[in-house]
Amino acid sequence: MQPVFFLLSCTMPTTLNLVHFNDVYHISPKKKEPVGGAARFATAINNHLDSLNKKGPDGDHWVLFSGDVFSPSMESSITRGNHMVPIMNQLHIAASLAGNHDFDFGVPNLQKLIGETSFPWLLSNILDEATGEPPEGLGQFLVLKGRKSGIKVGIIGLVEKEWIVTIPNFPPNLKYHSASDKARDLSRTLRDPSGPHAVDIVVALTHMRLQNDLIFAQETAGEVDLVLGGHDHFYYVSKSLALSGPDWSRDRNIAAQRGTDPEPGEPDPRVRVVKSGTDFRELSFVKIVVGDPVGEGRREVVEVEVTRQEITSTLAEHPPTAAIIAQVTTLVSAKTSRPIGYTCTPLDGLFSTVRTRESNLGNLTADLMQHAYATCIPTGVDFAICNGGVLRGDAIIDKGVITLGDIMNFFPFEDPVVVIRISGARVLAALENSFAEYPKQEGRFPQVAGLRIEWDPKGEPGARVRKVLVTKSNGDSHHGGERQHPSGLLAPPTGRPAPLPSQPQGEPLDLEREYVLATREYMAQGGDGFTSLVTPPQDYIVDGENGMLISALFRRYFLGLKYVNAMRTHFEHECTTHKRVVEAAHVWRLHAKNKRARGLQAAAGPESGTESGTETPSGTEISESGSGAETDASSVKGGEEGTDGAAHSTTKGGICDALTHSVKGRPCCLRGVHGSMTGEDVEDTKFMRKCEEVVAELGGEKSEEVKRESKETEEGQEEKGEEEDVVRWVREWASVGPVVEGRIVEVAEQ
Ligand SMILES: [Zn+2]
Repeated sequence: MQPVFFLLSCTMPTTLNLVHFNDVYHISPKKKEPVGGAARFATAINNHLDSLNKKGPDGDHWVLFSGDVFSPSMESSITRGNHMVPIMNQLHIAASLAGNHDFDFGVPNLQKLIGETSFPWLLSNILDEATGEPPEGLGQFLVLKGRKSGIKVGIIGLVEKEWIVTIPNFPPNLKYHSASDKARDLSRTLRDPSGPHAVDIVVALTHMRLQNDLIFAQETAGEVDLVLGGHDHFYYVSKSLALSGPDWSRDRNIAAQRGTDPEPGEPDPRVRVVKSGTDFRELSFVKIVVGDPVGEGRREVVEVEVTRQEITSTLAEHPPTAAIIAQVTTLVSAKTSRPIGYTCTPLDGLFSTVRTRESNLGNLTADLMQHAYATCIPTGVDFAICNGGVLRGDAIIDKGVITLGDIMNFFPFEDPVVVIRISGARVLAALENSFAEYPKQEGRFPQVAGLRIEWDPKGEPGARVRKVLVTKSNGDSHHGGERQHPSGLLAPPTGRPAPLPSQPQGEPLDLEREYVLATREYMAQGGDGFTSLVTPPQDYIVDGENGMLISALFRRYFLGLKYVNAMRTHFEHECTTHKRVVEAAHVWRLHAKNKRARGLQAAAGPESGTESGTETPSGTEISESGSGAETDASSVKGGEEGTDGAAHSTTKGGICDALTHSVKGRPCCLRGVHGSMTGEDVEDTKFMRKCEEVVAELGGEKSEEVKRESKETEEGQEEKGEEEDVVRWVREWASVGPVVEGRIVEVAEQ
């Protein structure tokens, strides 16, 4: 293909070199070419930078990343993105934009990870209302100055509005600003020849869909010289940019995208957008030829030439990066044996169960799917349907600890949860499909939340559903409606389930009505015969790119339980903040003393050192908590007993609300966790930090003294102590009780 030049007047051009990539998830290579993998990817970057370093004034270079690195992947479900930090630090990145998935485990977690990276992060158009700035740790712009050429490049980072609403509990104090307006403002400020920056050109990193990138590029033409986009996973280069390098059919790509990219010579040929594929499998080498100054505060971009580089197996692995990947793999497999939760009742995930009838593990899964996005959608999610085939473990998780390995074993699939708008008629058709193959143990058999289905196994395939009630309920909408109808619920940490409604409640499925359904992307694409779930793009509320993995939902759920139950154990919620801080400090003091007295592992807690430091009042556990954790599940089966809510649910708002939900034992307690915080909960994070400060002031129980003592303890004894601690801890604070059943009921034809 011939390079296309769109502006030809220049005298002394200078060349700048950018390396661009976006959306990376899997660090290990795939089997098919281009195999990718972070180690070969590092080699490709190093080789390229080495060759540029040998050049003269035309050798200035920067590596730029357009977002989505910390999630989703199997590894991320375990590390919450931590493992990506050392790998990204190998890639000589000059600037990075935060993508939607970087928020998957919450803003505090993202900030922690950013703090550990060796390069700056941008987010120009999501700003804190109070400060007018991006969240702490992120910047609005960056100025890079060529060491050889002296050219100054302004880098900005813009995102689209669409994905923000798909992030559960996106902090409400963070507000979206128009990407185009913001870019124009920043461009003017950065270019101002009498201002402090006086940049020569402006490059925008973006994390948005191609269509939005193209609109953005047109709206900011003349201000933004080049758009380097992420979020989409395909490779794309605008027609106005020259292409070089290995054969690659741009025309096919553009046709497939049905973009609005103008042809060269059409009204606005300056639409310059590059998207660099995904997943360490490809990247772009971008050469920008910059001409002489052409007026106030700008130099004209004369030519942009893009080389698409595939990461194939012919590239050698970069040894230091390969070593990090090996370490990550070891760490991940070691972490899979860690208890993350506790079940008071065996959870049945046998194929023979999940593919022929309702299973409590299936119900729990569907509950989490229904609740994952409840806060993103004003009306809540009406119900969730997943196929039994999503549960891969073919095993029963016995009463006792649940490990990360159990979760990964059951949910190895990396297809995300999606939320769609759908008519009742299509839901019914999907349910008929679910039951059609019975008694064959097909993966399509349903597991549901928010529904009660009566079906006749002897009916004709395709006409087996007798009655469908929409029970919604477990919802946990913002309106508090869930209190009347607790279905689908998990027990409180005491192991006592919420009361069952005596009669199934709900409204018959209305075939004409539109509902909001949470399901798997696989099913919404027609997998397992679910053709009725195939959904046009405009009916997606949360699409596949924005969806979370089921394994990550479980992870977040247990983290959430720990957090809210730890809070509940330690604080009288109606005290003033000051009082709460002092109390917390007091409790922790006591706790540390107890621990020392018992000669156990230090107050830092069973999970410290392997988990994010921002997660919970880590490991605090007091003997007088009286949480009832010893309650035997066998004595509470059936769920006739009331909740112990009265003892705890005397609180209002924010974390208190979450605590109340937790008492009820609902997945919606996720609302209060670090991984997904509401505004008030953010305050509570500050509160938690304050607690830690006070603890430190009051004698530093968590500090050196304690660590020293624990080191002196004998190795084996220490490990054993820690193990016991973890088990006790998850049992008290991350415990799942019996899940309400009766959602899928077999009836006989009259
Ligand atoms: Zn994305």
